[in-house]
Amino acid sequence: MWHIVSIIFGAIMGSFLNVCIFRLPKEESIIWPGSHCPYCKNPIKFYDNIPLVSYLLLGGKCRQCQGLISFQYPLIEGITAFSSLILFMKFGVTLSYLVYFAFMAALIVITVIDLYHQIIPDVISLPGIGAGLLASLIIPQITFLNSLLGILLGGGSLFLVATLYQWLFKREGMGGGDVKLLAMIGAFLGWKAVILTILLSSLIGSITGIIIMVSKGKDFKYAIPFGPFLSLGAVIALFYQNEIIFLYLRYRG
Ligand SMILES: [Zn+2]
Repeated sequence: MWHIVSIIFGAIMGSFLNVCIFRLPKEESIIWPGSHCPYCKNPIKFYDNIPLVSYLLLGGKCRQCQGLISFQYPLIEGITAFSSLILFMKFGVTLSYLVYFAFMAALIVITVIDLYHQIIPDVISLPGIGAGLLASLIIPQITFLNSLLGILLGGGSLFLVATLYQWLFKREGMGGGDVKLLAMIGAFLGWKAVILTILLSSLIGSITGIIIMVSKGKDFKYAIPFGPFLSLGAVIALFYQNEIIFLYLRYRG
């Protein structure tokens, strides 16, 4: 029963995340006005705005003008619903579930905005750092000290790498947005998870970079945003950090 509630809650929140993804980069209000069709500008009726369901019923088209609705809408709703379900299965009906759902929701919005615009909005990452630190006071998964160390290590280490990179190659490699994002990840997950997130995201990012370079030719100069890899690394750390650290300690030799 609660499984279904968590999926529905996730899908509804995913619908809100779509609004954030489209409006935050344009610095528009995420509350007002309501959803409009991008083609005919008609307001979308509440019964045509049901997460996942409406997209299927309407066949991915606007009811008024038949304009194609972006597949991003049901995709984000589905991913958010799935995130809600797996978090519920890990934490149950607890405050920790809500805290880490908010954390994953922030990562989803950051990932998509970074893919589209190559920016990580401060309006998410900076309050996120504070929210993670405050949450450490009320949930059992992380202590206040661990959260604080996570912020310092996350912000500090990437800042160091970014500065070093800029000094060596005379151009900006990693943005300040990545630094604030990793500080936020540290606030919610602690210092060990920060190290794990850096390792995982560098590994996945390198492999992806090589695949793109091979498939698009050697003169490929497009900068791949790093935020999505940090986010993915953080989610893996959230669910599997104890298992990964255990395996590492067991097999290091
Ligand atoms: Zn329309």
